Amino acid sequence: MREAGRIIAFAVRKAFRALEQGITTRELDDIARRAIESEGAKPGFLGLYGFPATACISINEEIVHGIPGDRVVQAGDLVTMDCGAVVDGYNSDYAVTQVAGPSTDEKDDLIDTTRESLKKGIEAARPGNRVGDISNAVEGHVLPRSYQLVREYVGHGIGKNLHEPPQVPNFGPAGHGLELRPGLVLAIEPMVNVGVWKTRMLDNGWTVATEDGALSCHFEHTVAITEDGPEILTLE
Ligand code: MG
Ligand code: MG
Repeated sequence: MREAGRIIAFAVRKAFRALEQGITTRELDDIARRAIESEGAKPGFLGLYGFPATACISINEEIVHGIPGDRVVQAGDLVTMDCGAVVDGYNSDYAVTQVAGPSTDEKDDLIDTTRESLKKGIEAARPGNRVGDISNAVEGHVLPRSYQLVREYVGHGIGKNLHEPPQVPNFGPAGHGLELRPGLVLAIEPMVNVGVWKTRMLDNGWTVATEDGALSCHFEHTVAITEDGPEILTLE
């Protein structure tokens, strides 16, 4: 799983190095797929549940499950790439949000808050804690900053399957849920909205967007619980 994590971090970085005004989401997807394959791994999302691409690429008000295609990235777009790799039957899951071209204070603050909330969640992913301690750590960082957390989509266990129990919500009370033990691997993934937390499904039946059309941001790491605490697997 470390190797699957390393490869997906490499692939997403490579794709996002090409992120700029004028590139299509399909081109970004192709870069990620080639990078995964060049490392001897397989794309984890392609064909899973019928998903037609290597990466989910979600822009601006889109939260998750954006489908790469002919859409041309515009200057200032807030772009999330969510992607996974499979090595020897084991999965990784990783998401990063970045602005194409010049950003704004608003977008930078949203990105910083989401990234930091993931860090807080990861810090709580240690033996003896419970899933709710992760949830509560994420929530405790985001809600005081007047953002909202998506409730209908959550983090998850990961291993031989991309999605395994337990669910890892980004909200809720500490001290509840499954006890964390060494060997458990979780995908922790806060989705932070500028406006309301509610979502709507776009006509393609895949892509989830904010109900009010305001911006959304998403970061994700695959994290192993070890005796010594959390180990982020999705690092180069
Ligand atoms: Mg993901
Ligand atoms: Mg995930």
